[in-house]
Amino acid sequence: MAIGTQVWLNGKILPLESAKVSLLTHGLHYGTGVFEGIRTYKQKAGGGAVFRLREHMERMVDSLKILDLKCPYSLDELCRGAIEVTKANRFEECYIRPLGYIADGPLGVYPGENPPVSIAIMNWEWGKYLGDEGVNKGARLMTSSYIRPHVNSVMNKGKITGQYVTGVIAKKEAVRLGFDEAIMLDPDGYVAEGTGENIFIIKRGKVKTTPLTAILGGITRRTVMEHLEKQGSPVHEIRFTRDELWCADEVFMCGTAAEITPIREVDNRVIADGRPGPLTKKLMREYADMVRGTVPEYGREWLTPIR
Ligand code: PMP
Repeated sequence: MAIGTQVWLNGKILPLESAKVSLLTHGLHYGTGVFEGIRTYKQKAGGGAVFRLREHMERMVDSLKILDLKCPYSLDELCRGAIEVTKANRFEECYIRPLGYIADGPLGVYPGENPPVSIAIMNWEWGKYLGDEGVNKGARLMTSSYIRPHVNSVMNKGKITGQYVTGVIAKKEAVRLGFDEAIMLDPDGYVAEGTGENIFIIKRGKVKTTPLTAILGGITRRTVMEHLEKQGSPVHEIRFTRDELWCADEVFMCGTAAEITPIREVDNRVIADGRPGPLTKKLMREYADMVRGTVPEYGREWLTPIR
């Protein structure tokens, strides 16, 4: 994994090794940070482009709002910063990680009314998040023993750093037990999401995904829904149970890092014949085309050239 040697920190491009953070950073003590995960892709027509950059930055500003923090930069400045640092690192196909956090100053849990907020943007090259085998043959999931916390305990609509602790321990549990990813249930016992992915199931041609209630509103989830709707196949946002997952004809997960990853097994139950299903494979191909700029109707709207 190649890591970009340059970062964008509070409006300036700096070498990674000189972009240091104080031990007194509030975000480090209390998890009061927010982040995004964005991918850029080499375009068929040449050069690189960022997929749905503005939507990611909008969600980052929303995450700050959920933490009652003001973003010190405008949306345009954040988008420009992401492009500048990607150019500085000379990447065409990479991952972009914007990170915002309460910087040093306040030391107690109460951060004060206008705490200092720092924004950093980093890059690295990232392969298939759930592994090449996961993408080619389908990944294996386990229902986690950890649940997505109640909506009044964790603000699921924000990508807030401290909230990822449950995901970290759920992912470790799954990997230790030999699975690729954990699927977490909501406090009522319905399927919620993976530690970094949303989930879809297909049964008798009907596509279902979990309602937004207890999950992060994934931008890839939205992309899949908008795309299927355009093709006349609307997605039903409805709660479903883990046994519906086991008995589905197809299951796939999606996220910026995971893109569209077929699921071949859940809790040691093989999904259908254990191979990626036809709709999943079609969506994987179409997603790969749209992010590389070969679907004209999505090009201008969703792809920001790196220049
Ligand atoms: N759920 C969680 C908990 C995530 O961290 C992510 C990754 N951002 C997703 C879903 C998928 O979101 P997106 O498609 O915007 O990457």
